Amino acid sequence: MNDTFDAIVVGGDVNGLTAAAYLARAGRKTLLVEPRNELGGDCENIAFSDGFVMPVLHEVHALDPQVVRDLKLARFGFRLAARDLPAVVISGAQQPLVVSRDAFLTSRNLGGTSRVDSEAWGIFRYKALGLARALRAMWWSAEQRVDVDFDQILRLPLITWLESKFESDALKTALAFEILESGCSPAEIGSTLQLHWRLAQEAGGLQAACAFPAGGPAKFAEALVHAARAAGVTVRTGVRVDRIITLGCRVAGVVLANGEEIFARMVHCSASRAETFASLLPTAIEGIAHSADSTVSWPAPGIARLAFGLDALPEFASTNDGKARYFIIDRLASLVSAHSAAQFDQMPDELPLELVFPSIFDRSFAPIGQHLMSVTVYAVPRTTDGSSAGMRESLVAKVLAAIARRVPEITRHVKASHVLMPGDLSARYGMDATMPAAIRLCTTWADRIMTPVDGLYMCGRTAEPSRAISGRAGRIAAEMALQRGLV
Ligand SMILES: Cc1cc2nc3c(=O)[nH]c(=O)nc-3n(C[C@H](O)[C@H](O)[C@H](O)COP(=O)(O)OP(=O)(O)OC[C@H]3O[C@@H](n4cnc5c(N)ncnc54)[C@H](O)[C@@H]3O)c2cc1C
Repeated sequence: MNDTFDAIVVGGDVNGLTAAAYLARAGRKTLLVEPRNELGGDCENIAFSDGFVMPVLHEVHALDPQVVRDLKLARFGFRLAARDLPAVVISGAQQPLVVSRDAFLTSRNLGGTSRVDSEAWGIFRYKALGLARALRAMWWSAEQRVDVDFDQILRLPLITWLESKFESDALKTALAFEILESGCSPAEIGSTLQLHWRLAQEAGGLQAACAFPAGGPAKFAEALVHAARAAGVTVRTGVRVDRIITLGCRVAGVVLANGEEIFARMVHCSASRAETFASLLPTAIEGIAHSADSTVSWPAPGIARLAFGLDALPEFASTNDGKARYFIIDRLASLVSAHSAAQFDQMPDELPLELVFPSIFDRSFAPIGQHLMSVTVYAVPRTTDGSSAGMRESLVAKVLAAIARRVPEITRHVKASHVLMPGDLSARYGMDATMPAAIRLCTTWADRIMTPVDGLYMCGRTAEPSRAISGRAGRIAAEMALQRGLV
């Protein structure tokens, strides 16, 4: 293919697909290049053991509603099978605590453990959501500056902030769980701001918009693929971009791994900023050294994903009819120590687990009469690569033992399992270390998207203010490029 395009998008993940669809809709001749044979990045389903299906990601909590609307994703099959999933904390000896969007119900549930918290919940919810919505302007739109004082929540670690508000350990744990996916510890500076980012997405039990798409997050990616193709994007899979071509400080195209050169005046790159600056660009460009410095990363713990095929639902899934996210940990302090242990490459004594039952929302995830239990383990050493079967088996056993301490019958119901260790996830999807939350959440979209190379825009996960499937970085990167009007 010796062709010229207006724009090339490097990466066929959610953000790459979104950027490509917006550019093509605006009339730009757009090529998208993805090294894997599949599109959608980590939004994929993996079939295992006769009829069970594991969604690699098990919920959506930060989708950009504008992407869904603008790209008319409903026309391409996207819909939510469940939304407003409450958080259920299964901790220690207490009854499970349900924190849901319904402020009255949550307040009543809290009454069982703390009258003070029960009374405080309504006002806390009102204030925290109010601040989160004001801050949302800076996380949802490239133009907006926020005019609110968030100094205190930036400085205070989440555990300190929560201690000042509530008595109930289960409630504090529910809120702290919400930030774990970002790789941030509740004891870290920036963690309170991280919770507000989560609340700004209408999640966190306060507004509980965590959702499960019909067919899983993979269907979101599939709808984006259809939208991109319908807009006229040319897609090439199975080939990697080896190098970004520059002329002086301007982007000129890409070189593929097979040596093919393709020219374009605009390149959107969904690979991480670190990979782009270290491996795809020539180092001689002025400003690159400075930009590479800004990729400083933080040793976040590894995350593992497990799926269990069950012949029946465990008893705790009857809380809220299984339509919930179940958080399993003894107390907030265990969550903090698990994070520090994993960060320094030790397997924690107690694993923070989030459980979802996709087969309750969508029957296609398990054979008739059976169920799928999807588990995210939030703190394991990043180096856990599963290179030996023994390491996988020992993680499966540790996870099941943690669940069985609360629900002994679980082990009887497990018929099959599938494990993705941190090493599997980074080998398949290139998940890398993240920037400290306090820095990442305070940078602007322009800081994260623009580069010292004219015409080169970052549009992937490192352009987002926090880890999530969203599509927002793809949309905003395309909008910024189109506004600059170089092509
Ligand atoms: C274990 C784990 C679980 C998570 N679970 C959830 C969840 O349940 N819900 C949620 O909302 N979020 C979740 N997240 C966050 C979410 O997965 C990611 O933040 C999101 O997928 C980022 O996607 P992205 O579209 O920005 O791109 P990335 O996934 O970073 O995609 C980069 C793309 O660029 C391509 N690429 C890289 N190099 C090249 C090259 N040289 N040439 C061409 N292409 C290249 C890659 O193949 C890939 O397609 C989770 C994260 C982790 C780590």
